[in-house]
Amino acid sequence: CPSGPALLFVKTSQGREEGRRFYACSACRDRKDCKFFQWEDEKVSETRRAAREEYNRNHQPFFTHSQNVERYKNFLLLPLSKRRFCQECQQLLLPAEWEKHSDHQCLCDVSTAQLKSPSHLLYPLENKKTNAQYLFADRSCQFLLDLIIGLGFRRVLSVGTPRLHEIIQSKASQEEDFRVRSLLLDIDFRYSQFYTEDEFCHYNMFNHYFFGGEAARETCRKFLCQDNGERVIMVTDPPFGGLVEALASSFKKLMAMWKETEKEGHNNHEMPMFWIFPYFFESRILEFFPSFSMMDYQVDYDNHALYKHGKTGRRQSPVRIFTNLTPSMIVLPVEEGYRFCAVCQRYVSSGNQHCEICNSCTSKDGRQWKHCVLCKKCVKPSWSHCSTCNRCALQSHACQKPEAGCFLCGRAGHKRSACPGLS
Ligand code: SAH
Ligand code: ZN
Ligand code: ZN
Ligand code: ZN
Ligand code: ZN
Repeated sequence: CPSGPALLFVKTSQGREEGRRFYACSACRDRKDCKFFQWEDEKVSETRRAAREEYNRNHQPFFTHSQNVERYKNFLLLPLSKRRFCQECQQLLLPAEWEKHSDHQCLCDVSTAQLKSPSHLLYPLENKKTNAQYLFADRSCQFLLDLIIGLGFRRVLSVGTPRLHEIIQSKASQEEDFRVRSLLLDIDFRYSQFYTEDEFCHYNMFNHYFFGGEAARETCRKFLCQDNGERVIMVTDPPFGGLVEALASSFKKLMAMWKETEKEGHNNHEMPMFWIFPYFFESRILEFFPSFSMMDYQVDYDNHALYKHGKTGRRQSPVRIFTNLTPSMIVLPVEEGYRFCAVCQRYVSSGNQHCEICNSCTSKDGRQWKHCVLCKKCVKPSWSHCSTCNRCALQSHACQKPEAGCFLCGRAGHKRSACPGLS
């Protein structure tokens, strides 16, 4: 399909596989956005194959990346008064094109500062099931950058983190002694208007597909393997509705790309990585990456009403950093209430108390959890032990209701459509 190779899906019900397996779009999880569908055992006729190829060709972006790079150079040569950005088409306009966009809402006098900050110029694509573009709040973005610098990294592979890429790029162009470089991999092709082929690759993180073909893949490989693969970290913030196994498979391929050309030394090492994702996916991520651990830091977003920085209850962001770096190295800001737990050897939220019985700081959501002796673990403060269900739950839960896990996060109690990861 236009997003590259499709993924093979299987319908399951109560853990059992049901019926035929089928291929569907890897990136668009809503049939409205991509209608590609094919049974696994279905024969595809030549005519249908040809029609598909034709369809895919017609669904390519209007300008290629290299054309966009050329256009950007010309755009920079224009005086301020001639620099326009069409907000409807999300495109930088050259004067010859103004006419065609005369009915469109345009932004005039686009400054160099605005060009250096495309994530503010472009509107966030909020389609929940496809792009789910939630941009870091400045506080979180700056924290990530300081952390990366503090840990001594020099190169950042930004996978679906345009705003992190952007602050790195803009500092690199302004501050002479700023040594960090970034390569952005993202499915949002609008970014190709602002970055060269060495700074941005059009990439699908659900099937590890480089739209720019071998040349783009090579750009990524070179970036990872520069300086013997040292001092590089991958940072990714995928859409939360994304399939964890598909993401993990792509990330392992990126890790393998890094490992390939590593010459000597760090043989048993993994490429350092920050995977930013909600805490309730912890067990899913650890399934694929047993070396990862979850940090307590709460990542905040600009355009996400629910995930903004807050001190109390529900308003706290559920989004965390998962990493294969040693937890004690991830220093969290004390001014924001994080503290170091000497037993756990990691920074934790202020509300996260060390439980003597579990011998760990057990809270996942920042609130103080309490230990249940019957469950033999710590549980949310709002739960209490139910003797009918033989486990802790909300007081208001329906006893012994058969609980089919959510298709997205695997937790019981809600359906996929109501998964907190999607909202
Ligand atoms: N917090 C980040 C943005 C995360 S939103 C920041 O501020 O930089 C998720 C990002 O992943 C978006 O940039 C979106 O365009 C990108 N994305 C969504 N689906 C993708 C896919 N299939 N492959 C690659 N990138 C994707
Ligand atoms: Zn337009
Ligand atoms: Zn502890
Ligand atoms: Zn406990
Ligand atoms: Zn209990």
